[in-house]
Amino acid sequence: MDSLPILDDHMHLDRRGRFLNAARDFARNGGTHIILVSKPPWTINININKPDDYRRVFDETVAIAEAVRETGIGVFVLLGVHPAGITQFTNQRTLEDAVGTMKKGLEIAGKYVEEGLAIGLKSGRPHYPVSEEVWVGSNQIMEHAMILAKELDCPLQLHTEETTEKTLQDIKEMIKKTGIPSNRIIKHYAPPMIKEFAEIGIYPSIIASGSNTEEALQISTRFMMETDYIDDPDRPGAVLGPKTVPKRTKKLIKRHGIEPFYKIHKENPEKIYKIEIKL
Ligand SMILES: [Zn+2]
Repeated sequence: MDSLPILDDHMHLDRRGRFLNAARDFARNGGTHIILVSKPPWTINININKPDDYRRVFDETVAIAEAVRETGIGVFVLLGVHPAGITQFTNQRTLEDAVGTMKKGLEIAGKYVEEGLAIGLKSGRPHYPVSEEVWVGSNQIMEHAMILAKELDCPLQLHTEETTEKTLQDIKEMIKKTGIPSNRIIKHYAPPMIKEFAEIGIYPSIIASGSNTEEALQISTRFMMETDYIDDPDRPGAVLGPKTVPKRTKKLIKRHGIEPFYKIHKENPEKIYKIEIKL
């Protein structure tokens, strides 16, 4: 058991939240690696007036990763623009400007990938109803992220509306159009639709709540596990806590054995992100 890495595939940390204490909770329960995702700028009091302002968000994520590594946890960084940004920004400016700013934000994130400060990108489209024109703009942003990830040869995590067959078909078409290899795309906050994801070649990051992981395991080990822990000081306990992935993994090992979890926490992320997960 001690030799099993345990990876949370999508987590945020915030210095005004539980920060290192949350990371230590994760580690104390057996967690060893984190895919750390940049926070939405407005949740860390950063205003995006121009694309370069995203650097403040990314620098903060990189600094947090460095601090967490000092506790002994392996941290890999994904940087990008939060899909809800389009709604935030269009309150103050035109849609065209908002879309342009977010596309440039992704390009800046790409520079961090080139410099080795991040392993990949994060993008997507809103998970709540929006107008037709905002939807079109959001799809342009997501498509731009796929083009960039293809050029950079890096992975891309997607945040989208609730996963349905239609969502997956849309993603499949965009993958075809942009030419990004589907096995570099990870669907964040995924339900256990393991077969459906396998059919279009992208990887689900299963949200480790309720019976999701158990249901996914009944089908195969072609997935990762995440909490989407947001470490929001104003909403403690709003989502799954940092201990969830290691705790659930250990519980499920009793029934399923340890073998499937080498796949889920080591082999899958190593292949998809092109990283090395070692203890
Ligand atoms: Zn998130």
